[in-house]
Amino acid sequence: MPGKTLETFDFAAVPMLSKAHVSAITAGDSWVGKGSNILLFGPPGVGKSHLGSAIGLALVEKGYRVLFSRTTDLVQKLVFESAIAKLDKFHLLVLDDITYVTKDQAETSVLFELISARYERRSMLITANQPFGEWNTIFPDPAMTLAAVDRLVQHATIFEMNVESYRRRAAEQAKGPGRPAQRATPANIQAD
Ligand code: ADP
Ligand code: MG
Repeated sequence: MPGKTLETFDFAAVPMLSKAHVSAITAGDSWVGKGSNILLFGPPGVGKSHLGSAIGLALVEKGYRVLFSRTTDLVQKLVFESAIAKLDKFHLLVLDDITYVTKDQAETSVLFELISARYERRSMLITANQPFGEWNTIFPDPAMTLAAVDRLVQHATIFEMNVESYRRRAAEQAKGPGRPAQRATPANIQAD
């Protein structure tokens, strides 16, 4: 995604995320080369897609091959052309919004195949609005959910971005005069 880079990511907005840790991740070798995964969890608007894109771009700059896709778009494509093996050429797949995959038999089985095919060989970075406990909405049965989650987490770094939506915070700040009077401070009264 254009502009969604590490340079434009405000780490102060996500205090549980260490910039040093994320920088180490963008070196790649420690995990991408080994088929490990990264999972980004958090409510909407907290920067999961931004960070996923930023990490992907940083790895492309290091010479890795990376594919960024909304999970639904990739899975729908894979239903029509069996191209899971071809995706091996990508060191990293960024699967954005995995929980938005519709509970459609063909799509979820392709998603499961994809996860199994890459297991311990190629990496994935997955973003999700919901933690694993809610992933039964993706797969047709709990056993399949468990099997998929098991494969993903065995070699994974998980970041829980449980903060307030960056989008909402930005919108509230932009509203300015509409904010409650008790939140006005001498400094911002002057600025207005
Ligand atoms: P999510 O994928 O978690 O729903 P997004 O990555 O789409 O959230 O973020 C929503 C918007 O807010 C995007 O425009 C994104 O660039 C911006 N944003 C979110 N978090 C940050 C952050 N920490 N620093 C800079 N921009 C951010
Ligand atoms: Mg997103």
